[in-house]
Amino acid sequence: MDKIYVTRSSMPSYEEYIEEIKSLWDTHILTNMGEKHKLLEKQLKEYLEVDNLSLMVNGHMALELALQAFDLHGEVITTPFTFASTTHAIVRNGLTPVFCDIEPDHFTIDANKIEDLITEKTCAIVPVHVYGNICDVEKIQEIAEKYHLKVIYDGAHAFGEKYKGIGIGNFGDATMFSFHATKVFNTIEGGAVSFHDDQYGKDLYGLKNFGIRGPEIVNFVGANAKMNEFQAAMGLCNLRHVDEEINKRKNIYHLYVEMLKDVPGIRLMKLRDNIEFNYAYFPIIVDEKEYGMNRNQLFDKLAENNIFVRKYFYPLTSEYECYSGILSLDKTPNAKWISERVLALPMYAELQVKQVQLICDIIKK
Ligand SMILES: *Cc1c(COP(=O)(O)O)cnc(C)c1O
Repeated sequence: MDKIYVTRSSMPSYEEYIEEIKSLWDTHILTNMGEKHKLLEKQLKEYLEVDNLSLMVNGHMALELALQAFDLHGEVITTPFTFASTTHAIVRNGLTPVFCDIEPDHFTIDANKIEDLITEKTCAIVPVHVYGNICDVEKIQEIAEKYHLKVIYDGAHAFGEKYKGIGIGNFGDATMFSFHATKVFNTIEGGAVSFHDDQYGKDLYGLKNFGIRGPEIVNFVGANAKMNEFQAAMGLCNLRHVDEEINKRKNIYHLYVEMLKDVPGIRLMKLRDNIEFNYAYFPIIVDEKEYGMNRNQLFDKLAENNIFVRKYFYPLTSEYECYSGILSLDKTPNAKWISERVLALPMYAELQVKQVQLICDIIKK
């Protein structure tokens, strides 16, 4: 029996990609904001319906530099129920993450618990649109305005989504997108930051290109986070097919919901209202009390059947060894509860109906 993994990267046809990169053999311009980079930036800005967009070599550097460009100091309120990148980006900027609990049904940061965590040192909020479910962007905006905090969204899972008809990258001061191979839209590795402020855009550009302003002017201690032309070419190809891919994901999503919604002890993610979703992931919560088996046992059972799911996100980032003794996790009981019971099921455009049925049959048994 073929192995089923949690994800499978979207790719254009071999011919389409070869056609796209052909011109690079004429220009010999392989990176440094070449033609492909410029075109992809423009097309993505339109697709995501955002004011400004800056492409980056990957999502992590996009988030790290998005934070750095705001020149922040002090504490950042964030969620521990996320990928390593979110917390690392905060810490690598010399900032202190302060963990806020999550909503038990949406899995996003619980906006009603943010205010209690604000101190004189708080400078920003870094929420995550986890699994593509979006945060309570309205409440977060209200808090940010009241306390003069920056809001930088980790939108790694939120490609192409809208809330009340507005592109998700318009909320907060900036939003990071990841175009990693495993995400809904990929440029092999890649990412971007969407933002409003032009001066901020200039600072961000400086950070991604060594702070070089002109041939003889370097006025910024920048890093290097430029997306290269081969990445951008992959993006140009994948963007042509992404709507179709999201549609296929949508069918799989609904199939899963149909088959799993009434299984005792299996809980599904509740989507926020007014969201145009991208069907990025399919997480389930395994409640042993009702299901009769715990998350780890179900994980093993699926693996015995050649289905390799992920305990995504487990452990919480606050529980990582590198943060042991430094960060406290006692204050996020919902996040802990969810993270000990969550499984991300296989979810990608090419997943077959038969495979979804097989996965659900095993879960039901
Ligand atoms: C994938 C991901 C990132 C990092 O993106 P890369 O492109 O892999 O560097 C950040 N945050 C979350 C929540 C992610 O899933």
